Formats: sequence, structure tokens, C-alpha cells
Amino acid sequence: ASERKPMMAANWKMNKTVREAEDYVAKLLPRVSDATDEVDVAVFAPFTSLPTVGRMTQDAAVIAGAQNLYFEDSGAYTGEVSAPMLKDVGTGAVIVGHSERREIFGETDETVARKAAKALEAGLVPIVCVGETKEERDAGGMWDKVSGQVRAVMEALDGPSGDAVVFAYEPIWAIGTGETASPEDAQEAIGQIRGLLGELGGEEFAGSVRILYGGSIKPSNAADIMAQDDVDGGLVGGASLEAESFVELVEAAR
Ligand code: PEP
Repeated sequence: ASERKPMMAANWKMNKTVREAEDYVAKLLPRVSDATDEVDVAVFAPFTSLPTVGRMTQDAAVIAGAQNLYFEDSGAYTGEVSAPMLKDVGTGAVIVGHSERREIFGETDETVARKAAKALEAGLVPIVCVGETKEERDAGGMWDKVSGQVRAVMEALDGPSGDAVVFAYEPIWAIGTGETASPEDAQEAIGQIRGLLGELGGEEFAGSVRILYGGSIKPSNAADIMAQDDVDGGLVGGASLEAESFVELVEAAR
């Protein structure tokens, strides 16, 4: 529906040992090698298996991704991992501001914005997640929440090019719940986000930046969501944990 290359992203969250990651990537690579010309395929692994995923994807057109980073390069930040450390193990992209980070670990619009800026500066593609809770949606506050999240990040980025950053609209009520936004709801929200990105970053940016949908995507609903004009791919949790099912999602994005 557009010139933008779709992206299908697997978010493993806190799952998989190194051995399990190896088995998964070994299964995935031969099955998506035909698709990567048309779809960017990315696997967001926990820090412990990320070096393995980075090494195994080195010569393949599959992107190794991290699920978080810190916005300083090094120092006394116990438990944190920096952008240069991620680059060092072959990471190409990083999820920033996932709703679980915001809700469970207290990340704010400000920390998310600083992380996105650091990723971009380091040459990592930030996948910036935005989305509203069920209560916010029911109270008519969806756009207030989402537009605020988008603005905070755009203010921290210095006129990024459209291929340097990716946004993901992930309504919190649809994450891990089995409840998906309808294709029309996904299109409406993502179209609105693209409109705002046009105001904030210019029309060229808005036309080329990719915006993914996330929230209970599975093989049975992926094609309808991916067919929407402004939806440029998916960020997938549960249905990405089996290589077989993730391959089907990559196919749906072609
Ligand atoms: C996610 O966490 O990014 C996500 C979309 O999860 P799920 O596909 O399991 O809803």
C-alpha cells in the first residue's frame, strides 16, 4: 500500500535460554531468507541471548534487536546496558518505551525520549512504542496519551530521517490479552500518528517513517491488519515465540 518496506518484529520479552534462542534462529533463517528483500525481519532478544542472535544473524538479512537500553554510554549504572555495548554484540535496533517498561518499571516520556535519542545517535534504530490503556480509551483520552508520547520523543530527536526510527502503536488493552484492535482501529490510530509526525517532522519524514501495530497479532489476524494503508508491519509478543508462527507473520507482511 506504500513505498515503505514493512517490518515484522519478534519481541521475545523475558523468554528463551541461549540454547532455545539458537534453535529458534537456526529454524528462522532459512525460512525467511526469501522474504527479507520485501520485509525487514527483526528479533528482539533478552540481553543474555542477544550476542548469540547477533552472531547468528551477522551474515543474514535479519536484524538482531534489544528490548531496552540506557541513555548513558558507561558508568555507575548497575544493571543497565548501553548503546555501545549493544552495538558491540551485533545489535541493529532496540525497542524503546514498551508499555511493560513504562507500566512495570516506571519509565516516563522523558526517559523514553532520552533512550530514543541515544539509540539514534549510536546508529541503532529505536522502535518507539506508544499506546493507551483501556481506561484511557474508554474515557476518550486515547489521543491525549498517544500524541503526548509521540511529541516527547520527537522533541528529543534532531530531525531524524524516516528510515532511522520506527514507531509502534501498541494499545495496552491489546497486549497479551488476545484482544486485537480491529484493522480499522489500527489504521485510524496509526493514520493519526502519521499525521502528527508530519506536523512535527515534516511531510517527507511522515511519508517514509514506518509505524507498526502491536497487540495480539497472530497468523489468523495478521493479513487484515497488515493490509491497512498506514500500517507498516507488526511488533509481536506471544505469537513470535515459536519460529514457525513468526514465519507465518513475516509472510503476512510481504
Ligand atoms: C508486545 O508486547 O509488543 C506485544 C504486542 O505482545 P502480544 O503480541 O503478545 O500482544
